[in-house]
Amino acid sequence: DRQVQLSARVVAYGDGQLLLTVRDVTRIHRLESMRRDFVANVSHELRTPLTVIAGYVETLVDDPTLAPEVHRTLQSVETQAERMRRIIDDLLTLSHLETREDTVAEQTAVPVPALIGAIEEDAHMLVAERDLTVHVEVEAGLWLRGARSELQSAFSNLVTNAIRYTPDGGTITLRWFADAEGARFQVEDTGIGIPQGQISRVTERFYRVESDRSRASGGTGLGLAIVKHVLQRHGATLHIQSIPDQGSTFTCHFPLNRTLQKPPSSNTLS
Ligand code: ADP
Repeated sequence: DRQVQLSARVVAYGDGQLLLTVRDVTRIHRLESMRRDFVANVSHELRTPLTVIAGYVETLVDDPTLAPEVHRTLQSVETQAERMRRIIDDLLTLSHLETREDTVAEQTAVPVPALIGAIEEDAHMLVAERDLTVHVEVEAGLWLRGARSELQSAFSNLVTNAIRYTPDGGTITLRWFADAEGARFQVEDTGIGIPQGQISRVTERFYRVESDRSRASGGTGLGLAIVKHVLQRHGATLHIQSIPDQGSTFTCHFPLNRTLQKPPSSNTLS
């Protein structure tokens, strides 16, 4: 018994007529799922040999008798292996997100202020050797219903980007607050910005505004694709405002039904 997946659309005209279109999307869905499995399998298979390579290089690079040029070469092999590991991890994260249910269940209460506190600590570590200021404005007691690890990875991707694309002397501001429509997590930077025409494309996989500069900055090109997926699964949306050479603001809008008021003293674990 062959299962068929259909996609239907109804258009209502002013004169009372309805137009119903039905499309057989079985093949498209099957191809989509083959693509997802393929990416997940390849990423998984690449992990083991990469771990072996990185392990050997790590042992070799510490050898004090190495000639300086050999040492430098090994160091760059080590750097590239580390970059590849990050790409593989991000690909696995993305394919896990894609294969799960479309929406995250709402039962779990995520203590967003605590989560942002942890992200802030990481941010201070990252900027320790740079001249960057990190500001945080957090509404205490404002929580979300969702998946903590996913939200953590989405928020920290936004913060890492802000740090990565803001030159020394800049400021990064994290905000978490409620408004009439729900709650917002916002990351504002005074960095290099994104040209107007490319803003809508930065959430595509591997899309980079300037490939050389972005690649040198150590990113994988998958961060914002992960952010977009996580937000979608929480019924949330991402808004990007940016002006080249002035800075960018990335805002995550969460709907009311996802937000939750918890007393700051509450020690409920998620
Ligand atoms: P990457 O790992 O390259 O940072 P992302 O998916 O996180 O990949 O971002 C895609 C691209 O969007 C980046 O390569 C960069 O060109 C641009 N971008 C993302 N965040 C910022 C930011 N805060 N300021 C300027 N450009 C950004």
